[in-house]
Amino acid sequence: MITLALSKGRIFEDTLPLLKAAGIEVLDDPEKSRKLILATNLPDVRVLVVRATDVPTYVQYGGADMGITGKDTLLEHGSQGLYQPLDLQIAKCRISVAARADFDYANAVRQGARLKIATKYVAISREFFANKGVHVDLIKLYGSMEIAPLVGMADAIVDLVSTGNTLRANHLVEVEQIMEISSRLIVNQAALKLKREPIRKIIDAFACALAVPA
Ligand code: AMP
Repeated sequence: MITLALSKGRIFEDTLPLLKAAGIEVLDDPEKSRKLILATNLPDVRVLVVRATDVPTYVQYGGADMGITGKDTLLEHGSQGLYQPLDLQIAKCRISVAARADFDYANAVRQGARLKIATKYVAISREFFANKGVHVDLIKLYGSMEIAPLVGMADAIVDLVSTGNTLRANHLVEVEQIMEISSRLIVNQAALKLKREPIRKIIDAFACALAVPA
């Protein structure tokens, strides 16, 4: 049995065509079904639907053999015991610093001000600001970070940006890009040894599907 961990939403939808290229069709729609373990057309392949931030944990501890997760989640989680054979180029976005339009971020950085940053990406933010030599107080949030600067709780946020619509709707502007993000295929290193052939087959099919121009 090969178990693949996925999260609902963008990553799940963008993964379906890749699975199809590997000859795998998921038999249930996670948006409609309450099932968390989904069967596929192949009796020896199944899909787990887990929270995005839990995908690396399932793969690391062998609850799943493989998974698909954003680079942001991997960097926050750490990648011990995980083999990362492919950048799948899906769920692309960037992780950025954003602030209120009336906050002069560049000037605050130049002046060596201590910044209050609200984010769920504490590890990524800590490293980014440390490398810039900027002192920050990090405020950990689990969602809706955009609110924090609006209510005066933080000077800026660090969050994922795709179209920029969410920032615009909340009167925030992107003031610095930290890095480009896309989803990665991750594989449990022990599973790769024990189930080498079926896992290799899926990795190769994904790689093949990516090489075909859209
Ligand atoms: P947007 O309004 O298109 O810039 O999207 C921003 C919102 O969607 C933010 O709340 C992000 O956390 C979330 N988001 C954007 N891209 C992704 C992604 N690839 N994976 C997960 N969440 C995302």
